Amino acid sequence: MTLEAELLKRGEHKCELCSASDELGVFEVPPGSDGSVAQCVLICETCKDQIDHPDKIDVHHWRALNDAMWSTHPPVQVMAWRMLTHLSSREGWARDLLDMLYLDEQTLTWAKSGAKLATDEKSEDTSTPHKDANGAILLAGDTVTLIKDLNVKGAGFTAKRGTAVRNISLVADNPEHIEGRVSGQQIVILTQFVKKSS
Ligand SMILES: [Zn+2]
Repeated sequence: MTLEAELLKRGEHKCELCSASDELGVFEVPPGSDGSVAQCVLICETCKDQIDHPDKIDVHHWRALNDAMWSTHPPVQVMAWRMLTHLSSREGWARDLLDMLYLDEQTLTWAKSGAKLATDEKSEDTSTPHKDANGAILLAGDTVTLIKDLNVKGAGFTAKRGTAVRNISLVADNPEHIEGRVSGQQIVILTQFVKKSS
């Protein structure tokens, strides 16, 4: 059986991301797909076009990820995760779905390895980007939400989970650190404990 035939069978002759049944083609999940069924997805022209041009994305098209993300096939999970991550910087529903999407460790590593694909052009930079708990790129001036209670050393207070921190700045030499004001004090926060808000 050819690769395409195998994927058509797995995807039941539908786009594995949006369920469209026209103009289906094989998409090798970057980076470095080996071209096997385990590292390819069957997608339609519309999905492919938007994956190739994330700046021209039609957010409504990707609502279908609501179903696709529950696929049991890692390459589909990876693409769903990446698209949701890309969309989550501006779409609340995408953030909610991303919160529910569980990938095993290996699949998550794979998904993150292609994170560049899912980032905005403006954040493309030679340095390591600052990323929140979900892998969304953080930029100076963003608003983030704390996802756990943080004990602020030396300041004698706890920054509560759910606290919004506005107008953050990035610690240039450490991609895991950002700075922001909480309770009137400028503190350093680990990026793994925050989620970007829109
Ligand atoms: Zn599609």
